[in-house]
Amino acid sequence: MASIFTKIINGEIPCYKIAEDDRHFAFLDINPVAAGHTLVVPKHEVSYLFDLDDDEYVSLELFAKKVAKAIEQVIPCKRIAEAVIGLEVPHAHIHLIPINSEGDMDFRHKQQLSVEEMKTIAEKISAAVK
Ligand code: AMP
Repeated sequence: MASIFTKIINGEIPCYKIAEDDRHFAFLDINPVAAGHTLVVPKHEVSYLFDLDDDEYVSLELFAKKVAKAIEQVIPCKRIAEAVIGLEVPHAHIHLIPINSEGDMDFRHKQQLSVEEMKTIAEKISAAVK
């Protein structure tokens, strides 16, 4: 069965889309740790990030870098942090999270943003992707 992220990529489930190219897709995490929390996924569905072949892995990181640069421009923060968890969704993905301190990376505390806030953030980040 297709993963929830494959369904998002295929447009079967809605998302707050940030960017895509032929091999990758980026969208806002629906339960963000911080405003601008973005997921970057390969379109090729592989369960575990570190099972991607080298080319896919490097290519995903380069795409994540491009998205991180866009988040930086929109969300005031000291750094864009990157995390790999993968316990919930078995489709390889990278979390990109704007942070000002280590505490901003606490996955036990999710934020509640309105639909309008999520839409606005996604549109701004998307427009900043080069
Ligand atoms: P993990 O697999 O542990 O890295 O966590 C999966 C992440 O995907 C969590 O942060 C969820 O909030 C996020 N997530 C799950 N379903 C969706 C969805 N439909 N749209 C956006 N983000 C999602």
